[in-house]
Amino acid sequence: MKTIGLIGGMSWESTAHYYRVLNQETATRLGGLHSAPVIVHSVDFAPIAAMQSAGDWDGAGNELATIARGLERAGADVIGLATNTMHIVAEQITAAISVPFVHIADPTSEALLSDGFETVGLLGTRFTMEMGFYRDRLTDRGLTSLIPEVDRTNLNGIIYEELCLGIVREESRRIYVTAIERLAARGAEAVILGCTEIAMLIDDSNSPLPVYDTTDLHAKALVTAALA
Ligand code: GLU
Repeated sequence: MKTIGLIGGMSWESTAHYYRVLNQETATRLGGLHSAPVIVHSVDFAPIAAMQSAGDWDGAGNELATIARGLERAGADVIGLATNTMHIVAEQITAAISVPFVHIADPTSEALLSDGFETVGLLGTRFTMEMGFYRDRLTDRGLTSLIPEVDRTNLNGIIYEELCLGIVREESRRIYVTAIERLAARGAEAVILGCTEIAMLIDDSNSPLPVYDTTDLHAKALVTAALA
């Protein structure tokens, strides 16, 4: 099995979950005491989040590209970025490395399409919902995506002010469930948890629509790439 390089810490709450899924999936596929060869470079999220707020995508991209290069030098054969939002700078990262980069939206699209879905709701940070980079990638792969018409600021705030800090509130869960109900009423057939922390609130047991969790799908796709 090849070595997985993971750019994490955005937030560390979800990176911890990635680490678990990478190892569980490897054990499931290879059996016995097998676990994932993985190098995690976990950043301090505060300066990255400050660059997001300031719209300094070039600065953040340079930083993550440097980290990706470091992971490759350290022996990573395949690289993943453990956040949907920062895929805004995916091109800067892929330009800096010569090993494969697994884009988080790709295994997600493949799973939806293979389950026969075409119109999907997308929940995530304001950046992921409102900037084109994520929805365009879904469109290119044949999916129509819908984002909430109302409450996007609130949904975004719950990510940065609660989930990234490990805070899970029942009231916030209800806000997310309501957003999914509204997406369903507008024709969404399934929902993408397009932020790596949303699974802390939403899963198949409480969602009105089938859930596609990007953290889980991305981590499993990284294992597939490392076993290829
Ligand atoms: N982990 C989140 C995501 O998947 C949000 C944190 C970030 O802005 O990177 O988008």
